[in-house]
Amino acid sequence: MTEQVLIIGSGPAGLTAAIYAARADLKPFMIEGMAAGGQLMLTTDVENYPGFPDGIMGPELMEQFRKQAERFGTRIATADATRVDFSSRPFRVWVDADEYQADSVIISTGASARWLGLENETRLRGHGVSACATCDGFFFRNLEVAVVGGGDSAMEEALFLAKFATKVTIIHRRDEFRASKIMARRALEHDKIEVIWDTEVIDVLGENQVEGLTLRHATTGETSDFKTDGLFLAIGHTPNTELFRDSLEVDDVGYILLRGPGTMTSVEGVFAAGDVADSTYRQAVSAAGTGCMAAIDAERWLAEQE
Ligand code: NAP
Repeated sequence: MTEQVLIIGSGPAGLTAAIYAARADLKPFMIEGMAAGGQLMLTTDVENYPGFPDGIMGPELMEQFRKQAERFGTRIATADATRVDFSSRPFRVWVDADEYQADSVIISTGASARWLGLENETRLRGHGVSACATCDGFFFRNLEVAVVGGGDSAMEEALFLAKFATKVTIIHRRDEFRASKIMARRALEHDKIEVIWDTEVIDVLGENQVEGLTLRHATTGETSDFKTDGLFLAIGHTPNTELFRDSLEVDDVGYILLRGPGTMTSVEGVFAAGDVADSTYRQAVSAAGTGCMAAIDAERWLAEQE
């Protein structure tokens, strides 16, 4: 059996693509991934998704998306796609030894924030540890927060957090920022933002909520404790495109390049939506928007092929 639309990935982009494709009677088949739901599964309250004036928990929002996709007949496999072949049609996608064929494919495997890899950082995620100031900054009104990183994202996150927090401390592992001069200057000149140079975070302290960090000086090796209410990681994102790098054109970092029109990738009939092709906006609502676009693009493209 050849699917009309096969969707890989199940965050806001993939599930919105599924809702639209299902309602267009394309009977989408989704390989949702073992990290189903995507990055929103790692957040707590989502207060910037339109339609939820009182906010909604990230996992609950994704559950609603999933229900809506299933309601219109999306079939979902809870597994990771392990191999693809887009060199001829129908396209082929594997989950281990199981092969699926499809006339069109929508890729929405998202991106993953990079983390430091500390045990307590993982444990306190959503409890003071975050990788998204836009999502979680609001909860730190009148509190003190730390931001790790020295790139444009770290500057942007620090400047955003300074609207809420009483003090923002950027902790950077070197003695100069990688960020653009203008962004760095804005952060350095901000009266609520301080910088600790040449320093790494080696532990996150707190039982149920972040209470502080253990820092280590990069050259002297000296360690010290640092009191803070929140820890924001801004050490980059990695698009989840390992599987596609031999089949599709990607940029230097690995984000899928769209050649257009709309969401079409370098292979005609293969579309991409959400963070996997977006290093700029990275919002649930923008991902959902491009998911909708990908389903409409796939539908039109399939109609043209007939
Ligand atoms: P980035 O430029 O790669 O910077 C990552 C930062 O994290 C670097 O300063 C790096 O330190 C640090 N870092 C990486 N791994 C670390 C670790 N394990 N421990 C401690 N620190 C670590 O990433 P980004 O800031 O997310 O930016 C990505 C791209 O988006 C860039 O091209 C950026 O210009 C762009 N962007 C632009 C804007 C804007 O213009 N408004 C906003 C955001 C992002 P080192 O410097 O020592 O390597």
